[in-house]
Amino acid sequence: MEYEGRCMKCKTKRKIKDPEATEVKKGVWAIKGKCEKCGTTIFKIIGKEKPKL
Ligand SMILES: [Zn+2]
Repeated sequence: MEYEGRCMKCKTKRKIKDPEATEVKKGVWAIKGKCEKCGTTIFKIIGKEKPKL
């Protein structure tokens, strides 16, 4: 499964490298990983379902 998120540095959507599922608060999941181009951390809120990686 691949995820895309907005990279703040590239100012565009990038694929998220090395994605990790993280629970930001109870029942809310997010993906944390790195921009495939520049390595900046990308954080993307997914929602209530735990993302499959
Ligand atoms: Zn980037």
